Amino acid sequence: MDTVLDHTSMYRLPWTLPDNAITWLEPTSSCNLYCDGCYRKNDPNGHKPLEEVRKELEVFRRLRKTDGVSIAGGDPLTHPEIEKIVAMVAEMGQKPIINTNGLALTMDKLKALKKAGVVGFTFHIDSGQNRPHMKGKTEAELNELRLSYARMLADVGDISCAFNATVYEHTLQNVPEILAWGQEHIDIVHILVFIAYRAAPVYKGYDYMVGGRKVDMSPVAYAIQEDRKTSIMSTDIVAEIRKRYPDFMPSAYLNGTERPDHFKWLLTMRIGTKERIYGYAGPKFMEMGQSLHHLFRGSYLAYTTPKTLSRAKSMLLLSPVDHGLAKTASAYLHGLLRSPGQLFKRLHMQSVMIIQPADFMENGALSMCDGCPDITVYDGKLVWSCRMEELIHFGDWVRPVIAQPDHS
Ligand code: SF4
Repeated sequence: MDTVLDHTSMYRLPWTLPDNAITWLEPTSSCNLYCDGCYRKNDPNGHKPLEEVRKELEVFRRLRKTDGVSIAGGDPLTHPEIEKIVAMVAEMGQKPIINTNGLALTMDKLKALKKAGVVGFTFHIDSGQNRPHMKGKTEAELNELRLSYARMLADVGDISCAFNATVYEHTLQNVPEILAWGQEHIDIVHILVFIAYRAAPVYKGYDYMVGGRKVDMSPVAYAIQEDRKTSIMSTDIVAEIRKRYPDFMPSAYLNGTERPDHFKWLLTMRIGTKERIYGYAGPKFMEMGQSLHHLFRGSYLAYTTPKTLSRAKSMLLLSPVDHGLAKTASAYLHGLLRSPGQLFKRLHMQSVMIIQPADFMENGALSMCDGCPDITVYDGKLVWSCRMEELIHFGDWVRPVIAQPDHS
C-alpha cells in the first residue's frame, strides 16, 4: 500500500474496454502548437474526411458504450468541419467534449459549436507549450489566459469548462497554485486535470521489439533520448497539493494494468466557495454517481452539467450515505455559525483529476490505465490513444525488453 493513499478505501471506477464513461476521437493530427510531451506527430495535412470520422464513431457504437466523446487530435479546432463532427457525436447521443489548446477559439466559433451540441471544453494550457507571445511564462502567469477561456465559456453559458496541464519535474511545485486559482474561479471552472509527463526513454538499456523484430523507436513522437524524469506518480502530485491543501482527499481511481495500487486516474471532488474549500466527496458519492447514471442512462457518467455542480448544497443531503459529504456538511455548518452570511453564497463542486499515463516497469512491461477512458480507433480496432504512433510506425505495439549483453 502507498503511504499517501490507500486504494482499498477508495472507489475503483467501474470503467472497462467495452463500457466506459469516455472515448477518444481524433478527427485530425494537425496542430497549431508544438507541446512538450505530445503523443501525436503533428501532420498539417492530417484532417480526416467526415466519412472516416463517421466510420470511427460507428466502431465506438458497435464496440463500446460511452457517455462522453473527447474530440482531440492534433487540435480539433483546426479541422475545417469541426462543427459537423460535434453535431455527429451529439446525434449519436453522446456528449461532445473538445480537447483543445484554445488558440483557434473565437467567440463566433464557440457559439457555432454550442449550436452544434458541444457539452464541454478541456483546454490544455501549461508552460511546456511554446505558445506564441507566452514563452517563458510561469504556470501562475498563464492563469490569466486560463481565465479568459473560462469567461468565454461562462458568457455563452451551460458549457463545462476544464483545464489540463502536463506536470513536469520542474512544474510539480506549481500544481497547488493552479488549484488555488481554480478555487478562486470555482463558479466557472468545473474540472482541473494534471497529467504526469511521460515519454519512452530509449536511452535506458532496453530493446524495443515488435513481433520478435528489434525496431528503432527514434521516429516515434514520444521517444526521447535525453535523461528526463518520466516517473512522476499521482501520489507525488497529491503530496505536493497537500502542502497547500492538507485535507485534499481523492475518492475514486483507476488502477494500472500491472499494479493494483497505482493511481492511473485519480479523481477528487472538492466542495466549496471561492473563499473556502469545506471538504471532499467520499467514495460512496462517486459510486452513486456512476451506478445511477449507468442504471438510468445506460453508460457511466463522464461530464456533469455546470448547473448540477453549482448545487452542492443539495448534494450535502446525501451525507448519511457518504462520510466525505458528512464531514463537508459539518465543516459547512460550523462555518455558517461563525459567518451566517455564507448561507446566501452558492456552494460549488469542482473535480480534480490526476492522470499517471503509461508506466515503464523495470522488467520492460508497460503498465497502462486499466479501463482506459482515452481509447480510440485505429484500423477499425479500439486502441490506446497514447501509444497509437507505435501502430502507425510499426503496425503493432512495441514491447520493451531488457537489452541482452552482446557476447559476440
Ligand atoms: S492508457 Fe494511455 S490513452 Fe489510456 S488513459 Fe492511460 S494514458 Fe490515456
